[in-house]
Amino acid sequence: MKKYDVVVIGAGNGGLAAAVKILSAGKSCLVLEKHNIPGGFATSFVRGRFEFEASLHEFNGIGTVENPGSTRQLFDELGVSDKIEWIQLHDAYHLISLEEGYDFTMPFGVDEFARANDKLHPEGSKYIYHFFELCKQIRGAMNYLSESKGKPDPQVLMEKYPDYLRCGSYTTKEAFDALGYPQVIVDNLNAYWCYLGADGNNLSFLHYANMIYSYISGGAAIPKYRSHELSLAFETRIHELGGDIWFNSEVVKILTDENKHVCGVMLSDGTKIETRHVIANCSPHNVYSKLLDEDAVPERALKLTNSRKLAGRGFTIFLALNKSPEELGLKDHNYFVYDSSDNIKQYQSMKNLKGNVGQATVCLNNADPDCSPKGTTLLYMTTLFTDDVWKDVKEEEYYKVKNEIANGLIERFEMATKTHIKEYIEEIAIATPQTYARYCGHPQGVIYGYESTPRDGLLNRIQAVEEDRFVPGLRIGGGFGERLLGFPSSYKSGANEANRTLKDMAKEGE
Ligand SMILES: Cc1cc2nc3c(=O)[nH]c(=O)nc-3n(C[C@H](O)[C@H](O)[C@H](O)COP(=O)(O)OP(=O)(O)OC[C@H]3O[C@@H](n4cnc5c(N)ncnc54)[C@H](O)[C@@H]3O)c2cc1C
Repeated sequence: MKKYDVVVIGAGNGGLAAAVKILSAGKSCLVLEKHNIPGGFATSFVRGRFEFEASLHEFNGIGTVENPGSTRQLFDELGVSDKIEWIQLHDAYHLISLEEGYDFTMPFGVDEFARANDKLHPEGSKYIYHFFELCKQIRGAMNYLSESKGKPDPQVLMEKYPDYLRCGSYTTKEAFDALGYPQVIVDNLNAYWCYLGADGNNLSFLHYANMIYSYISGGAAIPKYRSHELSLAFETRIHELGGDIWFNSEVVKILTDENKHVCGVMLSDGTKIETRHVIANCSPHNVYSKLLDEDAVPERALKLTNSRKLAGRGFTIFLALNKSPEELGLKDHNYFVYDSSDNIKQYQSMKNLKGNVGQATVCLNNADPDCSPKGTTLLYMTTLFTDDVWKDVKEEEYYKVKNEIANGLIERFEMATKTHIKEYIEEIAIATPQTYARYCGHPQGVIYGYESTPRDGLLNRIQAVEEDRFVPGLRIGGGFGERLLGFPSSYKSGANEANRTLKDMAKEGE
């Protein structure tokens, strides 16, 4: 039986970052991945003469070399930055909301964004600067909380961060109601909601405000060679550090000893690997219900996991068109096309198989003109289902249902942007929640981990991170982790769980 200090289950973002951290500390580490390539969602695939991005719309938190964002700093620390070529995105988004007749593009940059809001409302920039001051205070408070390691001085919080305390428990709806900005400004500030996939009645204002400020002030980027470039950078780094990755290696069991401490893992072919520390880059639903023996799972772990709300189930159409973006009249990289800017209403509509046409759509060529052969366009449209509605789709209806939904999304995009794309489709691939469930193994085809809810939002999870650890020797990192979904969050969560694992090892004298 092979033996490693740490075994990582899954080579998604969280698993890869965790492995690099562990190896950088001089410990031995094996990554086990059920697929034949690394990355999980962070990958690409080829159809005909096109290479499609599988997931990433935009990567926030990278910043620039001169002004690095927190994820670039993490990548520097992990030694992968020199292996990645970034493309900076120009504009934040093009928002189209049919009910209100919105159709405008918003730039990155605090001043640029504020000025653009003057075109929506005579005093637009005044409200935006006010909002960003609040965001800065929230960020300051969050930094202070993490520096004070859970023991903040209440006096400091009250004096320096009073608005943070005031809106600490607010949902985005409650906070925007209290702020009293004009509706068009609120609607514009709500544009990013689909990136967290929770509606205004559930989404923590602190989390959301922090995200908007991070996007607008720090901008966003994409890797030149799709997100697969990121995954390959990590794979290379793991090998440089002497680590192992085994592909085509599905873990079917996390083994525990008589003290219920992790003692190894077992693969689907029966191979056993000895270790006292596992970092699982998969969903806690799978870890507690499938990978561990029943008697190794405390009741609290099951209760907590079952009480969490699964977030959006993904549906994406990948299109390669044999016309250029100019010929199609598509100028922007990132489109949000909503029926309504009322995200509570939009969220409800996403509980239905029929009629869900809200979408986040990317025209990759408008960030990277060389991403496809001359005279062609890569376009991908993602929507979410906010309930497990795909369970009702019978096997014999599957193709019909998925084609109808895809057709609806394409037609809605054509109508909203006044373009024609159907007749120019050279390649098309459609991923449904079933595809995502099969690919990464996440329940119900969830692509966003657990939804941010007032009881289970970013701050609650960060504060309770040690209480979420139920099986000695086991930690769970990635998009289901304490920082919630997303590229930056999943890398950070993986790296954080690795740090905690190193501390566990030190405590146990290893
Ligand atoms: C269409 C789409 C668009 C998105 N757009 C964005 C975006 O623009 N910006 C953003 O920040 N985020 C975006 N996301 C979300 C982001 O992709 C995810 O949050 C992130 O990639 C999740 O990383 P993870 O670490 O949780 O690993 P995952 O990607 O979930 O990978 C888990 C890995 O574990 C492996 N695995 C699972 N079980 C086992 C087992 N038993 N044995 C071995 N291996 C196992 C899986 O095969 C997989 O490789 C998008 C996601 C999708 C699908």
